[in-house]
Amino acid sequence: MEKFYDTFGAHVFNDKEMKKRLTDETYQLLRKTIKNGKELDPSIAKDVANAMKEWAIEMGATHYTHWFQPLTGETAEKHDGFIESQKGGRVVAEFSGKNLIKGEPDASSFPSGGLRDTFEARGYTAWDPTSYVFVKGKTLYIPTIFCSYNGEALDHKTPLLRSMDALNKQAMRILKHFDNKDVDHVKTTAGPEQEYFLIDKDLYEKRKDLMFTGRTLFGAPAPKGQELDDHYFGVIKTKVADFMDDLNKELWQLGVLAKTEHNEVAPAQHELATIFLTSNVSTDHNHIVMETMKKVAQKHGLVCLLHEKPFAGVNGSGKHNNWSLKTDTGINLLEPGDTPSENARFLLFLSAVIKAVDEYQDLLRISVATAGNDNRLGASEAPPAIVSIFLGDELTAILEAIEKDVPYQNKSKTPMKVGVTSIPAFPKDNTDRNRTSPFAFTGNKFEFRMPGSSQSIATPNTVLNTAVAEELKKFADILDKSKDVKADIHKLVKDTIKEHKRIIFNGNGYDPSWIKEAEKRGLSNYPNTPLALKHYKDEKNVELYVSNSVLSKTEIESRYEVYLETYTKTVALEARTMLDMAKKDIMPAVIKYSGMIAKDLKLKKDIALGFATDYEVSLLKDVSTLSSGLYLATLDLEKALEKATMEDPYELAIYHHDVVLAKMTKLRDSADKLEVIVGTEYWPMPDYGKLLFSVK
Ligand code: ADP
Ligand code: MG
Repeated sequence: MEKFYDTFGAHVFNDKEMKKRLTDETYQLLRKTIKNGKELDPSIAKDVANAMKEWAIEMGATHYTHWFQPLTGETAEKHDGFIESQKGGRVVAEFSGKNLIKGEPDASSFPSGGLRDTFEARGYTAWDPTSYVFVKGKTLYIPTIFCSYNGEALDHKTPLLRSMDALNKQAMRILKHFDNKDVDHVKTTAGPEQEYFLIDKDLYEKRKDLMFTGRTLFGAPAPKGQELDDHYFGVIKTKVADFMDDLNKELWQLGVLAKTEHNEVAPAQHELATIFLTSNVSTDHNHIVMETMKKVAQKHGLVCLLHEKPFAGVNGSGKHNNWSLKTDTGINLLEPGDTPSENARFLLFLSAVIKAVDEYQDLLRISVATAGNDNRLGASEAPPAIVSIFLGDELTAILEAIEKDVPYQNKSKTPMKVGVTSIPAFPKDNTDRNRTSPFAFTGNKFEFRMPGSSQSIATPNTVLNTAVAEELKKFADILDKSKDVKADIHKLVKDTIKEHKRIIFNGNGYDPSWIKEAEKRGLSNYPNTPLALKHYKDEKNVELYVSNSVLSKTEIESRYEVYLETYTKTVALEARTMLDMAKKDIMPAVIKYSGMIAKDLKLKKDIALGFATDYEVSLLKDVSTLSSGLYLATLDLEKALEKATMEDPYELAIYHHDVVLAKMTKLRDSADKLEVIVGTEYWPMPDYGKLLFSVK
């Protein structure tokens, strides 16, 4: 019998296929390209393309596409047939080396934040050879970067690759000072945990808000929510299990390492974690995961919601991004190790991370700032909008001992010396207890918990890589000139903890007192996207990106505009959807309902047999008062939208936050109050109870 893993990666042009289908010489050259992450050697492009085409056609493919990640946040693809016409009405299958290396999609319809005005509308895509091509459906997918003709990045992936280069460069400089001479390069790794909701497709189609915006814009709480905590890790329902089974099969074929699946805290909420990989490949795979989830759900009569907060009052969805650094020789640089030298290396890299997170806390916050995630960050079920690091008590105590030149927990007589004394072993599982921290050390990696469920992990990883590269650079500058490397490493660790310990917080991040405490420590707290984005172009941030060759000034400028614009568009779309639903669905339903009561009242009066009608009068009054409130709220929101004419993208975005969102909240409030008193069969859309509990 075929085993589940026999078909793993069957749809991927992986190393095994390459070896089988390429000459030894071409294969070796391609391996080298993949290892170095450099552009494909044009001299072998033709042979590689040919082998890919043969393989893809055997897999049933008829088309190929350069698959890229524009700033819309989704992926983009344009399919071209392998078909070429020949004389005499014949056709052949063609796929040239040029077609593999470079594509030329029209860039003018993708967000570019002003780059379009300055540069030509044309863009190009180029294969990222470190990410394997694969066949999905009838198409050969080629993972690519997307740039303007002047080489300005128009996507999320280019900066990610640049940041990995920056980090590799600096980490290699550091490793020269340790016993790691055999290391050729350092890569960053990412392992995302993807949260999502599954709801019934028929119900979904009855809700314009879900269809147009991905979240419910109206909806009173159901009698049952998540208060019983009976869903987390609960038994997986048959329909969901069937979905997961199908999903895994598809993902495994595509070489995606889907591993852990379980029910999450909210009803109808689930999670899938993949095994970590190099950051860029993991980013591609996470896009495949999200797209496959949506597709497979449809097949099962379900809809997969990836929005950060589909339902008010129940937990939202995030995407924990596990992150670390790994050498090509297999060393995890955030693994504490056993020897004093390994300990020193670990403590130095750890210090770089602590310093990076403290100095660029605003950029980390910005990297997860979206209209969707604003509904989640800072609410009591998600990490706060304040960035801090959880290290666990043991590791914190070790660092404090180093800072104060004292023995660790009085367990020895001599103070800890980095690189000389061993750090005491600390239990790993202890470090994972705190679930409220936005950035937690979990034994041999960090878990960044702020990213939203629908967002690409490219940008959060880009910020992490770049900020850490910057601190490693500063460390390496010192060590390269050092006369006593051990002593200087000790000093670097000591100074870091002294200067940056304000970012370490092992307490409960959901506790309101933390906000006050964080403010005292001088940590930044940007509760919404526009306020966060305001700091995107701060001098130190521009300097970071530019000096590490991750983003140019123009690219930063363009991204700033795109992010603000995306925020504004999202909120405006939600507002328009609300107005449409309020006017066309809710008001008519309410009128019908109150009409029914009025008719009944009149009937009873006409008969005049002395029926008790007080309750009907008071019900009618309530419905009437609430619906006039609803009506006024729609007028208010309409007016607010009309006034949204500011030219400056920041002004416009902050207006949408401060004014438009506030009016939306009012409108929702009156509608939700009505929902509670209007009869179920009159209410024009499925309620929370149905949406959250109907999948069996
Ligand atoms: P939890 O829910 O407790 O956080 P999971 O097992 O669901 O744990 O997820 C852990 C994630 O961390 C997995 O995706 C795993 O592959 C990833 N991971 C483990 N080690 C590393 C590493 N060195 N770098 C990046 N990610 C890692
Ligand atoms: Mg986790």
